[in-house]
Amino acid sequence: MSNEDLATPEFFPATRETALHRMNAFTQNMGKTYASKRNTDFGPENRFNVSCLSPYLSHRLLLEKDVAEAAIEAHGLQTAEKFVQEVFWRTYFKGWLELRPHVWSRYTTTAKSAIEGLSGGQKVAFEEATGGKTGIDCFDQWTHELVETGYLHNHARMWYASIWIFTLKLPWVLGADFFYRHLLDGDAASNTLSWRWVAGLHTKGKNYVARADNIEKHTDGRFNPEGKLAEDPAPLDDDWNGEAGPAPTITPLDKSRKALLLLHEDDLGFDSLDLGGLDVRGIAAITVTDSRSPYGASEPVKQFTIEAVEDALNRADDAMDADAVKLPSPEAILQHAKDIGAEQVVMPYIPQGPVRDRINQAASSWESEGVKRAEILRPEDSAAWPHCAKGFFKLKEKIPSLIKG
Ligand SMILES: Cc1cc2nc3c(=O)[nH]c(=O)nc-3n(C[C@H](O)[C@H](O)[C@H](O)COP(=O)(O)OP(=O)(O)OC[C@H]3O[C@@H](n4cnc5c(N)ncnc54)[C@H](O)[C@@H]3O)c2cc1C
Repeated sequence: MSNEDLATPEFFPATRETALHRMNAFTQNMGKTYASKRNTDFGPENRFNVSCLSPYLSHRLLLEKDVAEAAIEAHGLQTAEKFVQEVFWRTYFKGWLELRPHVWSRYTTTAKSAIEGLSGGQKVAFEEATGGKTGIDCFDQWTHELVETGYLHNHARMWYASIWIFTLKLPWVLGADFFYRHLLDGDAASNTLSWRWVAGLHTKGKNYVARADNIEKHTDGRFNPEGKLAEDPAPLDDDWNGEAGPAPTITPLDKSRKALLLLHEDDLGFDSLDLGGLDVRGIAAITVTDSRSPYGASEPVKQFTIEAVEDALNRADDAMDADAVKLPSPEAILQHAKDIGAEQVVMPYIPQGPVRDRINQAASSWESEGVKRAEILRPEDSAAWPHCAKGFFKLKEKIPSLIKG
C-alpha cells in the first residue's frame, strides 16, 4: 500500500472497483490506528487515519457489512471495535429515521421555508458562512474544502455544525441543507440527525460545543480560533422526535410476475440482493440528486452520483441477462416497465429521504396501470433497525450478535 492509496482521492472516482481498492488499502488501519487517531483532522492531504469510504457506503457501492467484515477479519472484533461501531452509527441513524419518518418530512418543509424566508442580517450571515467569509479561519477553510472536495472529516463536521448553530446563530436546517447539497456521502438520516445531535435536539438537552483548544489539538495545530467561538451556549429545543413508530413494512416481490429491477442512488448494490429466481426483464436506474434541496445539489455531487449509477448499470448489464438503462426521471419508470413487459417494479428498499419522496410520488399511478411495486429490505437492515428506537447504546449492545447474523 502506498501513501497515495490513502491520500484523499480527488473527487472520489465513483466505481465499485475504487471502493474495493480503497477499502483494501485502509483495512490495515481499521484497528489500533483508527481507534487512536481517528479524531484528528490532519487536513485534506492526509487522510491515513479515516477510511473516506462514506461516499461508497452512502450509495451502497459498498455495504456496511463489507467494511465491518474486512475490519473484523483483519483485526478481530475487539481491536476493530471502534471502526465497527462508527459503521453502526450509520445504521443507527438510518434505523432511527425509519422509525420516525415525520422527522424527515418536518425537516424538508422547515428547510424550504427557512430558505424562502432568508432576508436581512440573517441572509448576509448565511452568505458569509456558505461563501467562506466569516473571518473564522477554520470554518472558512472547511467551507472551501466541503465545496471543492465534497468531503469533510467527521470532527470538522461536528465543529462546523456547532459554530454554525451557536456562534453564527444560523438555523440548523440551513446548515444541514448546505451540507446535503455538497457532501458526496450526503445521507438524509446521518446528515439530518447529526445536525440535530450537535444542536442538542437528538439527545435532548445535550449539545456539542466546539472549543478552540479542542480544535487546535485535533487539527494537529493547524487552527486555533481562540476568542472567536461561543463556548457556553444552551442547547436548542423542539418537539419533533416524538415516539418511535413501527419498523417499515414492505410489499414483498411476487415471483410469478415479470420484473423491472430498479436501482436508485441510495442502493446500487444489485449484486448482493436476494432476487431468488425472479424473472428480471430489464434493469433501470434513476438519480434525483437535485431533490436534495430547493437549491439542488452541487456539481461534484451530481457527477459522483451519475458515475456511481453508470458503474452499477454497466456491471449489471454484464452480470445479468437483461438490458440495463438509465432513465431520465422517476416519472419514466412506468412507461419503461410497460415497454419491456414488466408487471412489477422491484427495488432495493428506499430509506426515508428525497429518493423515497420522489418515487412515492411517481409510483402512485402504477397499481392502476397494472404494475406492482415491490421492495427488498436487506436482512441486515431489518435485523438492526428495531434496535434503533432510542439511543445508540441499545444498538451498540447488539453489534456482536448482529454481525454473526
Ligand atoms: C453534521 C454532520 C453531518 C454528517 N453528514 C453525513 C452524511 O450526510 N452522510 C454520511 O455518511 N455521514 C455523515 N456524517 C457522519 C460522518 O461524519 C461521516 O460518515 C464520516 O466523516 C465519513 O468519513 P469516513 O468514511 O472517512 O469515516 P470513517 O471514520 O472511516 O468511518 C467509517 C464509516 O462509518 C460511518 N460513520 C463514521 N462516523 C459516523 C457518524 N458519526 N455517523 C454516521 N456514520 C458514521 C460512515 O459510513 C463511514 O464511512 C455527518 C456527521 C456530522 C457531524
